[in-house]
Amino acid sequence: MKTKDPALIKEDFMRRFFIRCTTCLSVATVEVPNDPCRDPLSCGACAGAWETMGSVVTLKLLDVAKARACDGRCAVAAGPECDCSCGGANHGTGKTLPITASEGARIATPPRVAECRAVANQFRDALAKARSAMRDADVEVLGRRKRAGEWLSSAEFAVYLDARRVGRAAEMRSHRARVELLKGAAERFKEWAGKRQETGDEDAA
Ligand SMILES: [Zn+2]
Ligand SMILES: [Zn+2]
Repeated sequence: MKTKDPALIKEDFMRRFFIRCTTCLSVATVEVPNDPCRDPLSCGACAGAWETMGSVVTLKLLDVAKARACDGRCAVAAGPECDCSCGGANHGTGKTLPITASEGARIATPPRVAECRAVANQFRDALAKARSAMRDADVEVLGRRKRAGEWLSSAEFAVYLDARRVGRAAEMRSHRARVELLKGAAERFKEWAGKRQETGDEDAA
């Protein structure tokens, strides 16, 4: 059963926050009194975690008087900064989602659920493949050697850096860039594993 977030009852204290799903990267707004992601808020499309981008930020009153007229772009803006004449009144209103509660979890569901799931699956799949290629190639050995102060060849150092990037891919906020990074890294891990086998796998000895 879905119920309204109790925070939505206190309408006097509402602010409009921009939120982004860290997995499908959907951007939406929610109207709540405080940071909506202080407690876990999950994406109803892909089950990823929403993060707060900030509440709507507006120009100073003096600037608003001189600002460009508010139009349709304001309601579907990509981020919390409003620079038009509405002074934030319309900013992000075209993408406002309700927060619902289901079995103790707080959920916000973006529109175009199938599209969000496809994006999320593509990212999760690329991440899983990169991680498994990393395990198969025993890339960890490079980290251990580096920490022990051992010298890495330039090829090894490149693989080591790839592994660090894979570890941080979830923090990237461009879907295309992070999927490309993960696919490229997976290829390079495989290549490296192949080369090590050819040369008798001296590193792992
Ligand atoms: Zn999502
Ligand atoms: Zn506006």
